[in-house]
Parts: sequence; C-alpha cells; structure tokens
Amino acid sequence: MNEEFLPFARPSISRAAIDEVVACLESGWITTGPRVQKFEEALKSYLGAPHVLSLSSATAGLHIALVALDLKPGDEVITTPMTFAATLNTIVLAGATPVLVDVEPHTYNMDVAQIDRRINARTRAIMPVHFAGLPVDLDPLYRLAEKHGLRVIEDAAHAIGTEYKGRRIGAFGDTQVFSFHPNKNITTGEGGAITTRDEKYAARLALLRFHGMDREAWNRFGKTGSQHYEIVEPGYKYNMMDIQAALGLHQLPELDGFIQRRTALAERYQRLLADWPQWSLPRAPSYAHRHAWHLYTPLINPDAAGCDRDGFMQAMKERNIGTGLHYRAVHLYPYYRARFGFKPGDYPASESIGNRIVSLPLFPTMTEAEQDRVVTAMRDIFGMRR
Ligand SMILES: *Cc1c(COP(=O)(O)O)cnc(C)c1O
Repeated sequence: MNEEFLPFARPSISRAAIDEVVACLESGWITTGPRVQKFEEALKSYLGAPHVLSLSSATAGLHIALVALDLKPGDEVITTPMTFAATLNTIVLAGATPVLVDVEPHTYNMDVAQIDRRINARTRAIMPVHFAGLPVDLDPLYRLAEKHGLRVIEDAAHAIGTEYKGRRIGAFGDTQVFSFHPNKNITTGEGGAITTRDEKYAARLALLRFHGMDREAWNRFGKTGSQHYEIVEPGYKYNMMDIQAALGLHQLPELDGFIQRRTALAERYQRLLADWPQWSLPRAPSYAHRHAWHLYTPLINPDAAGCDRDGFMQAMKERNIGTGLHYRAVHLYPYYRARFGFKPGDYPASESIGNRIVSLPLFPTMTEAEQDRVVTAMRDIFGMRR
C-alpha cells in the first residue's frame, strides 16, 4: 500500500488566500473588522441578499435564527432527521421541540408533501436542509409557511451556490444559514453566515451575534467610533474574525469554479456507477435547479455488495481511501430517543438512508485518476471482475 491516503474532502486554499491571512495577521487587526465587512459585502453581492451577517459557524447561525423567534416551551419547529445533529440541537437549545418529517428516498431532502399534517397551533418554523447542495422544493414549502404564518429557516450549510428554479439560495425566501467549515464548498476555517430579507430580524440577529451590544467593538476602538455601547439584551459571542474573512474573501470568487469541478466529478461517478447492483445512486428532482454537489452520497445495497456501509468504509480505509458518513438519522441518537421518545421505524426513509449512506471522495482538486482509484477499490471490495 504505497499510494497516498485519499481523503473524502480537502479544502482548496490558494496562495493569495494564505497571503491575505498573513497580511491580516500583520495588520494589527485580527478579529472582526474591515475584512469581515468586505467579506459580508462580497457575500451580499454573490447571494443577492439584502442582509448578511458573518458568524463563527453555521451552528451559531441556526441558534440565533431560532433564539430570535422567542420560542416558548412546547413551541415546535419542523425539520428533517436526515441532517447534521446541529440542526436539531439548535432547536432544543433555543427551547423548542423538533418535529420531524421524513425525507424523499432518492434526494434525501425533506418530503414537502408530508409537512402539512405536522403543522398545528404550536408550530413556529420550518427548517428545511438542502441536502448535499440539492435544493428542497421551496415553492410549495413557502406556500405552506405563508398560509400558516410560519418562519422558514433554511439550513443551507451545504448550499452556497445552489439554485432553485433559477434563483440562488439566499436571494429569496425568509432566512438562510450557510457554513464555511473546511469540508463545505467554501471555507473560512470555521465560519458561517446568515441571510435574511427581514430588516428588523436582521437587527435582532446582529445583537444576538455579539453580546447584545448595540454597536460592534471594531467601530468603538476605531478613530470614528465612540467608546460607549449599550447592552440591549444578553447576546452570544458568535462573530467572525478578520483572519477567517481573509480566507473567505479569496474562497468566494473561486466558488463557481469549485462547483463546476465538483459537478463534473459527481456526474462522472453517476456514469461510472450506473447499473451497479451494489449501489442506489442519488437522483435529481424534476424541478429546475443547480446542485452545489457538496457531497456525493450513494446508498449501499448490502446484499449485492456483500458488506454493509460500515464494512465498506472500513475496507476503503484499508485501501487508503477515506469516506464520510453524512448522516445517521438524528432522531435515533440516545438524547433524542430519551427526550422525545423517537424510536426505530418512526422515519423509515431517513433510517434506511442513514444505515446505507456513504460520502465518496469529492473535492475540487481531485483528479480523474484518483476517482478511478476509488472505483477500482470498490470493484476489489465487491469481488467484481476488472
Ligand atoms: C456543517 C453543517 C452544519 C453546521 O455547520 P458549522 O459551520 O460546522 O457549524 C449544520 N447543518 C448541516 C446540514 C451541516 O452539514
């Protein structure tokens, strides 16, 4: 085994981005400041969003988006079990109850047709997740939200650059939360951003982001700022640093190129693995969209494969190839079972996906030769003839 380890994800950081981080470190201003302001402006113009707040993470964004709804015990937020734990965790942290809707078997996105029957007098918000960068069917979802007066907080952690019917996620609708974690489509190390079209809500989010201060620190210590601030309510410490924004400023202009490369590789996987009985491949919905291909996630068919998902991941590791697990169905984690009484069988599509899903290597600098290595390793594991 003399081939280098092939990870399932790897960030692409340009020399210019590294130089910008160094320049930031040498500038004397390393926390929230001019580079964060510039990055927020760049996000506004890329996303077409009137209000953009950069953050320390997407988890922070989901949290304050929910806290700003002033949820009371018993209030309900509708989301999907086929997501990262942060989606549900933040609902609980904001004091509400997660109510789950199962996913479509081939897109892994929330089945919008099942939302209506979960809405009742306690429902306050819907949190769809654009799985892997494939947009949820937002038109019927927003029609429902409007009819029932519900907020929509889109977990767009996978979906920067995603488009739904020709419109970019972040450019329309209610509120969106993006992640810049190193595995996501662009990175600031850790980081995130929230977009909204509601000016009052954006002002509240700005308070919650930074201690509940009515003026942010970088202004205060500058030449033009006053030394005074007021605390309007207790807030969190969820601001992004200039060191992070320095990366983001150089990542964002590369995003569309990253997505093009991810798309080419994902489509090549779809062609190379078509008709393999060992896999069920993800399928596109019929509405117009641009997939951001944050992840490439087929489902293993253990009977045909001769191993289950965990066995497959282990066998790939033995061949020096990394894979990822995004995600096991969140309702089956011990906390969620104990606290809300969720049990196996509650959300069968999510459970089946959660037991069989695997993220194959996919990142912008991945070569076709590396992708062929992945396919060859699979043939070997499944005992297929070359
Ligand atoms: C990554 C991710 C998050 C959290 O993002 P962080 O920036 O790491 O906090 C939330 N939801 C989903 C679906 C994610 O994939």
